[in-house]
Amino acid sequence: MKLESFVNNSWVAGAAEGRPLVNPTTGAVLATADASGIDVAAGMDHARTVGGAALRGMSFGERGALLRAIADTLSANRDAYEEIARQNSGNTKVDASIDIDGGIGTLKYYSGLARKLGDAHLIAEPGQDQLARDPVFFARHFITSRPGLAVQINAFNFPSWGLWEKIAVATLAGVPSFAKPATATALLSYRMVKDVIEAGTVPEGVLSLVCGNGEALLDGVGPMDSIAFTGSAATGAMIRGHENIQRCGVRLNIEADSVNATIVGPDVKPGTPLFDLAVKEASKALSVKAGQLCTNIRRILVAKENSDEFAQAVAARVQTLAVGDPENPDTRVGPLINQAQQADAKKKMDALSGETRVVATATAPQDAADGSAFVAPTLLLCDDPTAGRFVHETEVFGPCATVMPYDNMEQASQLAARAQGSLALSLFSDEASVQVATLNNLGAWHGRILMVDEAVGKNHTGHSIVMPQCVHGGPGRAGDGEELGGLRGLRLHMQRTAVQGSPGNLEKLAEDACELAL
Ligand code: NAP
Repeated sequence: MKLESFVNNSWVAGAAEGRPLVNPTTGAVLATADASGIDVAAGMDHARTVGGAALRGMSFGERGALLRAIADTLSANRDAYEEIARQNSGNTKVDASIDIDGGIGTLKYYSGLARKLGDAHLIAEPGQDQLARDPVFFARHFITSRPGLAVQINAFNFPSWGLWEKIAVATLAGVPSFAKPATATALLSYRMVKDVIEAGTVPEGVLSLVCGNGEALLDGVGPMDSIAFTGSAATGAMIRGHENIQRCGVRLNIEADSVNATIVGPDVKPGTPLFDLAVKEASKALSVKAGQLCTNIRRILVAKENSDEFAQAVAARVQTLAVGDPENPDTRVGPLINQAQQADAKKKMDALSGETRVVATATAPQDAADGSAFVAPTLLLCDDPTAGRFVHETEVFGPCATVMPYDNMEQASQLAARAQGSLALSLFSDEASVQVATLNNLGAWHGRILMVDEAVGKNHTGHSIVMPQCVHGGPGRAGDGEELGGLRGLRLHMQRTAVQGSPGNLEKLAEDACELAL
């Protein structure tokens, strides 16, 4: 089977055979994907003109209803998606749910936000400023949909969530989407978009899909377009430096890799509920999605006096993790998505070996197929994280994390910041002074901080789970991007314009707007 692309309102196949999509449990080739020879530029024009006009003609509320219809179509076919996620991504049921239900849930969340914006087509910021001595000349800021398209390039680890979280925000903003999933796991994105298009609820040009190589998207973007990229820092840097993107001033949002940390506060002693919660969360980093989450905990900072006990508690969990075929309901950790990722994870674990020692590993399946891509979950310990370098810079995109003892909170903050900017940090502590210091010292280095104290207890959503209410993205190495965050996400797709005029004029302009501070 060769995956087709949905461009210019029709499904078209690329000219070449394309790259293979494999089942990482068996090594079997499931499909190929290629987009060469497809007239992507014409499809982008079609999306801008036909799809853009359709969306801008709809109110926020109507766009929200469209998102709800998409979510309903996906919900109706959910079981088929879980099977594809198992086959093409090696997902267990839990892994698949994070991706599939995360995508559907985000669509529903944005549909709900749209209802609050109602019949409006544009946004007016609250308040206006008087610009002349007489009260006849004022300025008010209005936010309107850009007449371009949203190019969305996604990473292999979230073929559903990555796709729909970006489409949800762009659609609500009134901008058509041109999505490109990572080739290795594109089967799920392809099948979902196919179902949604066949359901007939999406107006022409609002949703396009490229399966295979995406260079033409970078060449085809113009000044009213945006690119939301999720993937490695290397590809992100290439896109940032792309000649056409620089020339056109395209809006660019980059979500790149990240060596995230969790800090177990010095007040969190063995035997306490917070200690156990931190152990549980750190252990998840070595099992959920086989560690292939951009927000995953890679570094576990624990006060020196507690670090041995903490490492042993995580080790006890790691040693019992069942690694194997995700079809087996007992399996907790499936394979990585292919052998290239397996080789990359192993290479990076080797790079860490000079600065760390192994505390525990789970047992990889003995009877694994030749083409499989299993990596045994591995807990490392770095005795001297201040001297370490690779432990702070290397993202092993698999089930591996490193415990790092620290002397005091000041040192813990310095160590966390050595990742040069991350997507997510978590802090387990019941001390207000520790929480305040963490925000002051590490807020600027992170896009999101999860703080678990006794009041939160187990009622938190997890270090790695991205909630659509919260911004997602991180500074520095993490790409300096920002997605989601409720209505804040609209900013990527809309233009803020200061309008100067008379009070009557500004009042008239605001009639079709909802008042909102973004
Ligand atoms: P990748 O190799 O950088 O690829 C990401 C995407 O870029 C893929 O869709 C890829 O397409 C596309 N791409 C590559 N070269 C391109 C070009 N010249 N023109 C247009 N598109 C191009 O990353 P990955 O291996 O898929 O993902 C793993 C990385 O993503 C990890 O480092 C992880 O930390 C990061 N990640 C970050 C986040 C976040 O939110 N910050 C989320 C998930 C993952 P092909 O697949 O067709 O090559």
